[in-house]
Amino acid sequence: MTAPGRPRAVVPVLGYHSISDEPRDGTLRWSVSPGDFDEQMALLAQRGRTPLTVTAYAAMLRGEAPPPPRPVLVTFDDGFADLAETALPVLRRYGLTATAYVITSRIGSPRTRRSDPFLDWDAVAELRAGGVEIGSHSHTHRALDCLARGELPQEITLSRLALEDALGERVSSFAYPYGYSSAAVRRAVRAAGYTSACAVKNALSHGADDPFAIARVLVERDAGTATIEALLDGRGWPLAWRGEQLRTRGWRAYRRARRYVGLARAGAGRAAG
Ligand SMILES: [Zn+2]
Repeated sequence: MTAPGRPRAVVPVLGYHSISDEPRDGTLRWSVSPGDFDEQMALLAQRGRTPLTVTAYAAMLRGEAPPPPRPVLVTFDDGFADLAETALPVLRRYGLTATAYVITSRIGSPRTRRSDPFLDWDAVAELRAGGVEIGSHSHTHRALDCLARGELPQEITLSRLALEDALGERVSSFAYPYGYSSAAVRRAVRAAGYTSACAVKNALSHGADDPFAIARVLVERDAGTATIEALLDGRGWPLAWRGEQLRTRGWRAYRRARRYVGLARAGAGRAAG
């Protein structure tokens, strides 16, 4: 049910990580089983949703293109190998597109006790050929809002150049590691030539959302189809807000302070993204 005063065009932007039945310790919560993923993508198709890449959606947010009926976005963070092996065939079966954000320093990294293996360059190209937009999720996946300004270019610009060299095309979208950004980080992403960036927020995007902090809802392993149905109906999550909430600022101040005293494992155990 739509509450009074809510914009009509709520746009669910789903954020997945790995699609696997063998999640590692470090990815268990964020790894959706292939059967559940298939059911969730089938639901998007049954509901007549129009899938968009993030770059296409950002163009609509800027008023450069009209929105299609019932838009939906599917995104993947981190670039796990199962994205090409398991998720891509499902996306193709239901005629869905998606945007995959890869961490350039981890491309080709093997399976470890804590982590699923990552896409190699051939698999990144295969995804792109399969209609999936490829975006940058930084070079080393550190919390960018806690880095010194001089450390940002490697994370934001070099990761983009590496992807563009490999793919032979422009890379236009970025996703902040852990969803964390600051005004300085968002400025740096824009200055580097990206036209959009995804945050997390666990809120519903809409026509007045910020193209450089697009709200997503992270899909956890125990999210059933009913959860996705509620999301498509615009129930259960707040509408995205512009700017930052006070607690976001407070949490950043805490993480920065930890970094300065040498305890920084930014976001570890608290957030995915
Ligand atoms: Zn991530």
